[in-house]
Amino acid sequence: MSKQRVKWVVGNWKMHGRLAENASLLQSVAQGAGAVAEAIRVGVCVPTPYLAQVQSQLAGNPVAWGVQDISTYTHGAYTGEVAAEMAAEFGATLAIVGHSERRAYHAETSELVASKARRALDAGLTPIVCIGETLAEREAGTTEAVVGAQLDAVLSLLSVDEAARIVVAYEPVWAIGTGKSATAEQAQEVHAFLRARLAKKDASLAGVALLYGGSVKPDNALTLFGQPDIDGGLIGGASLKSEDFLAICAAAKAASEAR
Ligand code: PEP
Repeated sequence: MSKQRVKWVVGNWKMHGRLAENASLLQSVAQGAGAVAEAIRVGVCVPTPYLAQVQSQLAGNPVAWGVQDISTYTHGAYTGEVAAEMAAEFGATLAIVGHSERRAYHAETSELVASKARRALDAGLTPIVCIGETLAEREAGTTEAVVGAQLDAVLSLLSVDEAARIVVAYEPVWAIGTGKSATAEQAQEVHAFLRARLAKKDASLAGVALLYGGSVKPDNALTLFGQPDIDGGLIGGASLKSEDFLAICAAAKAASEAR
């Protein structure tokens, strides 16, 4: 019998927040998610200037924290970049890499994303590797080719042991921040494809956590997380409202108990 995979809920704050707002959001998340984080994995990926704040407010709490991007380098003349080791010094354990906003606005290639994933692993962080197709790609029937190639770029750079430590977030670009989530069936179909792709590299990789991201809200989270290959969510807009984020965490816990 296969081992039951744990559910994850990770917030991506993007470039939102200020010290005062963060303080109250983190306080609510620490109180509310602290209890569910025993049963599921909960995390928040914050803008890097707030790492010290999140480290201080979540100290001793099972909620994890991380960053939204990292450099492919460890040191040097790379103005504006942040090394994975720097984030780790502030207790970060997660690093989002390859978010579609970075691929689109910063021309990040799948090869660059793969090297960021490797760098995160080297620093002891769990990379959350984002992949996903645009609306035009979906309409052209190339979703599997696109996400397959994005995943393969990462898998080809990592050993099986390293690949076993990544998390993959399937985030259809057309569903991010649009309020238009993929249906549970659409998301499940892609997740099943990705799980098979991972297993093809090595059977042990069938257990890699596969999160769905794109307009997850309290009212669709349970249906999405109830799908057999969806191991939780990467949450943008709804992670900025503690009530919504906590309701999504509760849905992940309920989906995990229903399995
Ligand atoms: C994201 O940007 O990772 C995301 C999932 O955003 P949203 O939930 O707002 O669609």
